[in-house]
Amino acid sequence: MAEEKESWKWQLTHRITTADELSKLINLTPEEKADIAENLGFFRMAITPYYASLMDKDDPLCPIRMQMIPSAAERVRGEFDLDDPLGEIKYNPAPNVVRRYPDRALLLVTMQCAAYCRHCTRRRVVGSTDCTITKEELRQALAYIERTPEIRDVLISGGDPFILETGALEEIIAAVRAIKHVEIIRIGTRVPVMLPMRIDRELTDMIRKYHPVWVNTHFNHPKELTPEAIRACEELADAGIPVGNQTVLLKGINDDAEILKKLFLGLVKARVRPYYLFQCDLSVGISHFRTPVEKGIEIMHSLTSSISGYAVPKYAIDLPSGGGKVTLGYNYVVSKEEKELVLENYLGKLYRYPAR
Ligand SMILES: *Cc1c(COP(=O)(O)O)cnc(C)c1O
Repeated sequence: MAEEKESWKWQLTHRITTADELSKLINLTPEEKADIAENLGFFRMAITPYYASLMDKDDPLCPIRMQMIPSAAERVRGEFDLDDPLGEIKYNPAPNVVRRYPDRALLLVTMQCAAYCRHCTRRRVVGSTDCTITKEELRQALAYIERTPEIRDVLISGGDPFILETGALEEIIAAVRAIKHVEIIRIGTRVPVMLPMRIDRELTDMIRKYHPVWVNTHFNHPKELTPEAIRACEELADAGIPVGNQTVLLKGINDDAEILKKLFLGLVKARVRPYYLFQCDLSVGISHFRTPVEKGIEIMHSLTSSISGYAVPKYAIDLPSGGGKVTLGYNYVVSKEEKELVLENYLGKLYRYPAR
């Protein structure tokens, strides 16, 4: 890439937002063109030139294309769709704060992202233009965390916090770090995937002043593990930031054990720990991405029996109406009696084991 394209600000100001711009880079099908036109203003399209460069020019089923290009299916309201699938409105004790567990709170600092994923769970609020936390909202959110000593883990999320200028993000992180009972700060971001050039020394030097800070990112497909993205993850890890990954299980994109195996092994090589594999939420307009839960469990079984525990995330469903996350897995306990268990190993062989 030419030098200016390596600047994250250039990437943001040159995001692709129309079918015309996109068709200069890839061969759009007539359906894609129509779908883009129909969906604009509904849930915005914006793609960094970097991420667009990973798209297959001719294949509309390319996993990068499917994550970014609107489809008519988004206008369908599925039978089980919910406007606020995670009950985030109800669990809003202060502006921009979501608290569903006693010891952890989510602090949403902006509703903007580097690029907009078609499977966005917060599509109800993400992508609107005037949406970075105001000083007054931040003051109230921090006051809430301050007066709630049970909160020991604050997740800074959005939108994407790494879209903010380093100075603006530092103000937020420093203020959270100043709260004595907050032990861990976590940042949720898809920037290493969408805008890896944003992960620079200025950013990591700032973050490392406020350790312990963990980062959770969001890779969905091995095609996303480019040299640039791997460098971004390594730069975070080199700054002493443990990096985790949350993948969303998406029909037609990554609902396949071999694809996920490749992704998770690649992440581990980049020093990123696969943390969660999420069942696609019940947000309105993404039912076409959902896979049967049984299939997710089957994929987990296949992963568990073939790769290291380091490369296997937890398969989780985020329950509707704020029930929190529940993890599911293949059941290796064949029978359970008072004195003895029968357990199945990774090859399907059965073993007896004392119950106590
Ligand atoms: C996912 C989530 C958390 C963090 O959960 P972990 O299992 O600790 O990663 C905290 N708060 C909310 C609202 C969440 O959705």
